[in-house]
Amino acid sequence: MHIDLITVLPNLVRSPLDHSILQRAQEKGLVEIHVHDLREWGLGSYRQIDDLPYGGGGGMVLRPEPLFAGVASLQKDLGQPYDEIIYLTPDGETLDQPLANRLSLCKNLLLIAGHYKGIDQRVRDALVTREVSIGDYVLSGGELPALVLIDALVRLLPGVLGDANSALSDSFQDGLLDAPAYTRPPEFKGMSVPDVLTSGDHGAILSWREEQRTEKTQRLRPDLLPPEHEESVE
Ligand code: SAM
Repeated sequence: MHIDLITVLPNLVRSPLDHSILQRAQEKGLVEIHVHDLREWGLGSYRQIDDLPYGGGGGMVLRPEPLFAGVASLQKDLGQPYDEIIYLTPDGETLDQPLANRLSLCKNLLLIAGHYKGIDQRVRDALVTREVSIGDYVLSGGELPALVLIDALVRLLPGVLGDANSALSDSFQDGLLDAPAYTRPPEFKGMSVPDVLTSGDHGAILSWREEQRTEKTQRLRPDLLPPEHEESVE
């Protein structure tokens, strides 16, 4: 997968990309992530990227010219159309696991992180193919949402996680939450690991995990269960 990210704060995103799973995925050549400073395409000697909003009101707006120039330049370098040009925005489609699964199949993504009051609407109308929100709250910039999206996608790419089954048994992958996890020691501060997990009986462990997942989902997130399941719980 190839990901380009346009931001006004490139240094803000670099550290998370240089650690842990995201770092290893890049080192293994499973994903290329390129961070671009919007000021590269800024206007004039001050490399201006923002301006006052028409109609007044507080906050600056990212001007269209640098974003149009940036997208055109990156598109030219890529040599083929992006599968999606995604603007991170609180009024976009809310990111969930099915959307992450779908986007993880893309080969080329361009992400645009907004700032201040947002980006000029003409960029959204003419260039952006998808708008994604990470939840119903407003952050100061699109950098953290872009990182959230990148992390959610990259961990799904084949070969990124040491154990491919790990991502498949995570919460939301099949509509259930994940089962409780335990590690050593078997006894800690008077609390024991459930006997079944140390029994070596793989069939019994699988059944226990399924029961735990269903029970936990019924208790914490009944909205995830199909309607007939929700009714039978009551
Ligand atoms: N005026 C915008 C609104 O009310 O919809 C909010 C702008 S916000 C202060 C600045 C930037 O942060 C946005 O352009 C967007 O890129 C990013 N952002 C903030 N909250 C977000 C969220 N929940 N999901 C995705 N991006 C978000």
